[in-house]
Amino acid sequence: MSDGGDIRAPLAVDPGKGDGFGCHAGASEMEAAARKAGNSELLDGFRKDYPLGPHDKPQSMCPAFGSLRVGLRMRRVATVLSGSACCVYGLTFVSHFYGARRSVGYVPFNSESLVTGKLFEDIREAVYKIADPERYDAVVVTNLCVPTASGVPLRLLPKEIDGVRIIGIDVPGFGVPTHAEAKDVLAGAMLAYARAEAEAGPVARPSGGRDTRPTVALIGEMFPADPMVIGRMLEPMGLAAGPVVPCREWRELYAALDCGVAAAIHPFYSATMREFEAAGRSLVGSAPVGHDGTADWLANIGAAYGVSSEKIAAAQNAFLPAIRGALQGSRVKGTITLSGYEGSELLVARLLIESGAEVPYVGTACHRTEMSAADRDWLEARGVKVKYRASLEDDLAAMEAIRPDLAIGTTPVVQKGKAMGIPSLYFTNLISARPLMGPAGAGSLQEVVNAAIGNKARMDGMKAFFEGVGEGDSAGVWEGSPNLQPQYRALRQKKLEKAARAADHAGKNGN
Ligand code: SF4
Repeated sequence: MSDGGDIRAPLAVDPGKGDGFGCHAGASEMEAAARKAGNSELLDGFRKDYPLGPHDKPQSMCPAFGSLRVGLRMRRVATVLSGSACCVYGLTFVSHFYGARRSVGYVPFNSESLVTGKLFEDIREAVYKIADPERYDAVVVTNLCVPTASGVPLRLLPKEIDGVRIIGIDVPGFGVPTHAEAKDVLAGAMLAYARAEAEAGPVARPSGGRDTRPTVALIGEMFPADPMVIGRMLEPMGLAAGPVVPCREWRELYAALDCGVAAAIHPFYSATMREFEAAGRSLVGSAPVGHDGTADWLANIGAAYGVSSEKIAAAQNAFLPAIRGALQGSRVKGTITLSGYEGSELLVARLLIESGAEVPYVGTACHRTEMSAADRDWLEARGVKVKYRASLEDDLAAMEAIRPDLAIGTTPVVQKGKAMGIPSLYFTNLISARPLMGPAGAGSLQEVVNAAIGNKARMDGMKAFFEGVGEGDSAGVWEGSPNLQPQYRALRQKKLEKAARAADHAGKNGN
């Protein structure tokens, strides 16, 4: 068990500086502070795992929500946050909104405890108090932006207390670009821990017993029925579906590592994939989605396991006719733009195209990896513009230029789409919450998509009814006609332009 050593974190940021150190601004200052505080290696690791560009700061929710949710979904795992109160308030609010039904621990700090290193001592004390082996297998402690920028050294926490594993992670908004990728930060940290345990000696069996068949671990959160569908598709090859990573309990991590092949259903899990590779497992990209996707995926999994071509063909023949039938069952007619931050956007686009839709644009907030290469190639061969690390501006520009029959996207995209009278569906709640894999997935999207496209007349009616209400300067509740003062805006604009010209001039003269 390690003790603290010199745990004083130099105060590299001023936590009282307010908005300048939030996720809305100052990311570069936070990053510089974190580097000064000794976190360069951590940040370089994030750059490698989650390459940036074109956007490099959260455009949706706080990234730490991803790792928080992964921890909260695991049985016998306690979660502790260390960060600014406003961040923790927002994160706990959202986690309970999504039905966490679990307490989130919080170690508060102030300028003094941050400056003196007392915050680390407080975290350490909290971890000792909470690490009860009767209740927990693991405690996850997460540094949010300010403690990461200040270099609060979670690596110096004990690795275990009375058999309870202690996992310390940094998930700053200025290092981890999306909440999807933050899920990988925790999943990867847990796999690394479990791998070290498995290498050191015998570990616990899965609670449901160990499958005697070779397994395929599934990387990425998916609809609960999807792993079962995948399992059935693997059966003719003598294989079984392994656990889904992120896992739901600690011992599943060992079972996941026990696979021969890991399927990167969600392709952005860089740290998780690194752990599987370090354990000597092969990785297979894409997913059994739609006809072509399922045919290729089964062939690739079979090849990775050295399964005979007869068995691969048996698996394909058992499921492809049903998938073909489901895809023909109810066709989608219309043009769809698609964007999201779940990491499954390319897979959904494939399914929509095989269902008959035109999909000219797919944007994903996640980064590009080799694991999505097959999906990217398939889509690009059909004229789709695939945009990795798509910003909100990219998604909106695509929607405005294409004017689709349906926009599938994040909340602000849907909001803008509806304001334009374009039927719109929220990706996370309405698309991610459906089966995608195999025969079950093939028929699942058409109904919701066709119903939404069929709503065009209603959208037009609503747009006409609300035309001009609550837009621009007239937003809000007015008792009389809005008293617009466009001259003030023009005046301010002139002043801003003048200041910019003066700054430009001063810069050129070297002042
Ligand atoms: S922890 Fe999250 S909410 Fe808080 S400043 Fe960082 S990115 Fe923003």
